[in-house]
Amino acid sequence: MRAQPKGSHFINGAWVEDESGAIIESIHPANGEVIARLHEATPEIINKALEAAQRAQADWAARAPVERGRILRRAADLLRARNHDLSVLETLDTGKPLQETLVADAASGADALEYFGGFAATVTGQTIPLGRDMAYTLREPLGVCAGIGAWNYPIQIACWKAAPALAFGNAMVFKPSEITPLSALALAEILCEAGLPAGLFNVVQGRGAVGAALATDARVAKVSLTGSVPTGRKVYAAAATGIKAVTMELGGKSPLIVFEDADLDNAVGAAMLGNFYSSGQICSNGTRVFVQRSVKAEFLEKLKARAARIVLGDPLDESTQMGPLVSEEQMTRVLGYIAQGQGEGARLVCGGTRAGESGCFVQPTVFADVHDDMVIAREEIFGPVMTVLDFEDEEEVITRANATDYGLAAGVFTRDLARAHRVVGQLQAGTCWINSYNLTPVEMPFGGVKASGVGRENGHAALEHYTRVKTVYLGLGDVESPY
Ligand code: NAD
Repeated sequence: MRAQPKGSHFINGAWVEDESGAIIESIHPANGEVIARLHEATPEIINKALEAAQRAQADWAARAPVERGRILRRAADLLRARNHDLSVLETLDTGKPLQETLVADAASGADALEYFGGFAATVTGQTIPLGRDMAYTLREPLGVCAGIGAWNYPIQIACWKAAPALAFGNAMVFKPSEITPLSALALAEILCEAGLPAGLFNVVQGRGAVGAALATDARVAKVSLTGSVPTGRKVYAAAATGIKAVTMELGGKSPLIVFEDADLDNAVGAAMLGNFYSSGQICSNGTRVFVQRSVKAEFLEKLKARAARIVLGDPLDESTQMGPLVSEEQMTRVLGYIAQGQGEGARLVCGGTRAGESGCFVQPTVFADVHDDMVIAREEIFGPVMTVLDFEDEEEVITRANATDYGLAAGVFTRDLARAHRVVGQLQAGTCWINSYNLTPVEMPFGGVKASGVGRENGHAALEHYTRVKTVYLGLGDVESPY
């Protein structure tokens, strides 16, 4: 299995290599095979990418928005036409099952390119009457934006950042996660083929230090990170020193609340999607499942039966429902949390061990009788581990759901819609689902509150984060001066 790209970096419309950069290996986590060997960006490579971006941006900003949008929509069509190959690449790099990558990765990236491609030409300013005089506003691009990605949705993350950035006239230098470096390069090639002028979307590889170099460079106007809270704190602080704009899409420990009047089959299905899809490696997962005590036994019974039927295996086999975790390190981390949960006295309902002897597979795991103060109920595990907590009444569950530093997402299952709205109105979360979970279509804004982040991706809200407002005061009469 090889997925070696033509070069490590894609800069100014071309493949670039600099073998003096440290080696980055992309490993297929289902069998440990090295599928590609790349080099980290050296300071020269980073400089080249930023220079190219800066050079290209002014012309791009001056183009008619409808023309910018057309190129992005062409790229969306190319992504869709090549969805199968891109999905195989993403499966090799991340280990996520093809069954998922075929529908959720390049496909959602294409949606973002199409959406922001269409959005580009609709952006306008305001006119502000001021009596005799008036003012108007212009929406201007920020300039060069740095994008830094996580490893769980590599091409989706690249598109969620690149599409609005490019649509509104910016250039981007994107650094994918060192664990999944490949699909951003494929995206760069496709954007180029769609007609994006050279230099507007550049990909540089590297670990944290390369991200830090981008976040501190004076040529970068904005940094958009998808990653963990500890990394977010560092990148936000670095950006603050340079007074740069930021978008921070960080981690979570989101509550999913199941009231006794809920459709339990739907609630169980959503809880499983919100904990086992992508082997649980999703930021917005509803990892604290609060179930009202009167339906707890029934909920757990249904959950256990359905979890036992999950098909684990070779992620390239389309009948596989759950693949490995992304890396051995992540598997070890997750198994450590499982051991800790058992040590803390949580009741293991199913799973709890590694699956098989090779590959980074962990069984879908459910803990019941979990208490709020247990580590497995407080920390982001980022693996297929669901914790089920009991509650008695609405007020109690809202307080407990909010008792976390995180605030990315939340879900409520109930047939009582008045209660559903009342509850989500009080939940401290950037995105809430009622009788659904984890669906993130590009039309709706997505992002966190509290430690889970700053800013929003997608929807009309993204405009705020990739443009700035210029105000122009227009004097239409004589200047009234006391001097
Ligand atoms: P991570 O924080 O380890 O790394 C994220 C990215 O930041 C990587 O590209 C990494 O190389 C880079 N980085 C690391 N240190 C840096 C530094 N000092 N300066 C600049 N860049 C640096 O996260 P991860 O393990 O790749 O991804 C998992 C995390 O991402 C989880 O916490 C998950 O919740 C979060 N996540 C959030 C969202 C969201 O939209 N909110 C989506 C996906 C993942």
